[in-house]
Amino acid sequence: MRLSQFFLPTLKENPSEAQIVSHRLMLRAGMIRQQAAGIYAWLPLGYRVLKKIEQVVREEQDRFGCQELLMPTIQPADLWRESGRYDDYGKEMLRIRDRNDRDMLFGPTNEEMITDIFRSSVKSYKQLPQLLYHIQWKFRDEVRPRFGVMRGREFLMKDAYSFDVDYEAARTSYNKFFVCYLSTFARLGLKAVPVKADTGPIGGDLSHEFQILAETGESQVYVDPRLLELDTEARQLGPDDDLAAFVDRVTGLYAAADEMHDPAKCPVPVAELQTRRGIEVGHIFYFGTKYSAAMNAQVAGPDGVQRPVEMGSYGIGVSRLAGAIIEASHDEAGIIWPDAVAPFDVGLINLKPGDAACDAAAQDLYQRFQAAGLDPLYDDRDERAGAKFAQMDLIGLPWQVVIGPRGAASGVAEIKRRATGEKLELPLDAVVARIK
Ligand code: ATP
Ligand code: MG
Ligand code: MG
Ligand code: MG
Repeated sequence: MRLSQFFLPTLKENPSEAQIVSHRLMLRAGMIRQQAAGIYAWLPLGYRVLKKIEQVVREEQDRFGCQELLMPTIQPADLWRESGRYDDYGKEMLRIRDRNDRDMLFGPTNEEMITDIFRSSVKSYKQLPQLLYHIQWKFRDEVRPRFGVMRGREFLMKDAYSFDVDYEAARTSYNKFFVCYLSTFARLGLKAVPVKADTGPIGGDLSHEFQILAETGESQVYVDPRLLELDTEARQLGPDDDLAAFVDRVTGLYAAADEMHDPAKCPVPVAELQTRRGIEVGHIFYFGTKYSAAMNAQVAGPDGVQRPVEMGSYGIGVSRLAGAIIEASHDEAGIIWPDAVAPFDVGLINLKPGDAACDAAAQDLYQRFQAAGLDPLYDDRDERAGAKFAQMDLIGLPWQVVIGPRGAASGVAEIKRRATGEKLELPLDAVVARIK
């Protein structure tokens, strides 16, 4: 993509409405535009990032044997009347009436709908387990939408649902998602801490939130430092490994959010305990037969007896992650994208467009990047060097490659790694290999 043709409405000034750095940087870098409170358009740069995040999430769900489907955003109220949640959900639910006066709603989550889909065809334990997910827009009419896409009203969520014959099997499914989530966040370049979460009126101990540690987080978390070292281990595990052993070990370490924290029960010495702010990027939940019993989703067990299917649900805030990644990875100059989600792989800066040698060298590199399967953003505009550098730093591509008159004459380019600021000069034909 040539920057001269790319739709990238960056801002020079800090937008006054943005209170936290990710919101500020997403607006300044031309990633998003607010259309109403908590409702955003994703502009080309932002949408590229969103799709990258979505793809990492999808690949990890698939790796653990979860199957993708797509449910609609608009749901009939009658399903929610069956579970009893239509009245309980309150004002966060956006309620809609169609032309025939039927009550509809914009889904804030999909337990009812997936239970309906399941019960219409699955009748026997032999068809279990089933793990199903979709990546779809949700709407929650939040009291205080804020922090940009971190607490939107319309937001993109990956939500998965598990169906099992009994508690033991449901626990196996839960463990898969537990490990899958750690692996997903590690691939996104994030340190996510699994924190025991309140299960509310349902009871039991099977609910965990995944929190990214960042100063602007809305939760207070208290964690054993050993929980920050799990990434590589989780990435090496697959669905057929002994996940229970791993999950038992990890959940044996102390981690609690907000009111779940009990200093009297915390075995970690105060000096070592990490007391930090956290951003909830994922939440997994075992809830047994809460929906299957209410909605009559029964399966016959090996003994021939019909019983409500055991369920769990597993959410990841895909659009929230775009903000969370920036909170965790930026500096004064702008965003620093982890390689896995960068909107382009490399920014190519031509310092003197119109100069024949610069144009030829830049054009040559641009084509070499593409031939190597890399996605370059080529700044071919006639602008001051300082402005070009500042904009490239702001949008945070992992690599910058600079072609100037001196380098073009001697056949070298300057390469900068955005994350470290490290620079080096390389012959033009060695650039692609260094970046790939
Ligand atoms: P929060 O505590 O932040 O309100 P939640 O506990 O209500 O989130 P869940 O129902 O657990 O959210 O939904 C699963 C995931 O969806 C959350 O972990 C979060 O990453 C994401 N999410 C929830 N609400 C929003 C929102 N308003 N904007 C963006 N992402 C959200
Ligand atoms: Mg909420
Ligand atoms: Mg929450
Ligand atoms: Mg939650």
